[in-house]
Amino acid sequence: MYLTRLADICRAAGLDVVEVRGWKRRGHGPMTAVKTIVCHHTAGPKKGNMPSLNVITNGRPGLSGPLSQLGLGRDGTVYVIAAGLAYHAGQVRSSSYANAYSIGIEAEATGVDPWPAVQLDAYGELCAALVRAYDLTVSRVLGHKEVCYPAGRKSDPNFSMPDFRARVTKVLKAPATVPVGTPAQIFSAVWARDAVKGPWMTPDNPTRAAQSVIGTTFPDQVKATDAANAAARTFPAVAADARATAAAATALAGAAAALGATATPVAADAAQTRAAADRSEAMLTALEASVRTSMAEAVKAAVEASRVRVHVTVRSRSAAAPPAAPAAADPSSASGSAPHFR
Ligand SMILES: [Zn+2]
Repeated sequence: MYLTRLADICRAAGLDVVEVRGWKRRGHGPMTAVKTIVCHHTAGPKKGNMPSLNVITNGRPGLSGPLSQLGLGRDGTVYVIAAGLAYHAGQVRSSSYANAYSIGIEAEATGVDPWPAVQLDAYGELCAALVRAYDLTVSRVLGHKEVCYPAGRKSDPNFSMPDFRARVTKVLKAPATVPVGTPAQIFSAVWARDAVKGPWMTPDNPTRAAQSVIGTTFPDQVKATDAANAAARTFPAVAADARATAAAATALAGAAAALGATATPVAADAAQTRAAADRSEAMLTALEASVRTSMAEAVKAAVEASRVRVHVTVRSRSAAAPPAAPAAADPSSASGSAPHFR
């Protein structure tokens, strides 16, 4: 892989960038992967912003360039030198630190004099941008003195790497800032790069011009945005509905609880009523039986009474009969002409 995004990555981090001619094709072949950022200092001349640039780009006797992918000037400018493999690390303790797996940064410094604050700030921002761009952890930002083999073969960079990694972490954790420009700056940022031109694209109305072209080029996205905005406007009404529904549900739950409380006494009443009904039925049955018995006895008594009356009647009629048959008054001893009722 050739790291052809390097310049854009640095620019996006807000760094000043100089692209060294031919950098995208420069390298000792491609990189295999990016696993490590190796920090160096040049131990170069005292004067100038990046006096070692020519050596880093083209090499020195015995070692051909590029000698790193990136250079960092004393004023914080990033020089993008090579997109391919560079000879910066030499012998290392682990293959993941080797040139095929690591981006080298050569910062211009003597290794003796103090570092300008602007250069150190840029160094931290540069490493943070690379960590983010290549999905690394800050622990993969290492000094040449940390990765070299054998240990102690190199002493650069001459600052504390733990302190430097803390600086990189701080940059990564800082809240992202959104650059806001003037309308003219925004207009030029948007339209200076755009091939589409039209009479409506005037700097005094950049917003309208942008919307016109965006709506033509990305109709679906504009529709989605409109829908989202409409949803946002509808939301209060939906929320009010939801609140009303929740209140109704609470009221229903209360009513259900009240019904539950009433159901128990109602059930007890029903049981009592049922028992009373059962008792009434038994009483009716008994009454019916007693009525039937009484009626039967009454009928029997009536029948007996009738028999007595008939008996009496018969006896009366016998009394009026001729004296020739006095014995007929006693039916039990009656014989011959007397009617027999038994
Ligand atoms: Zn070094």
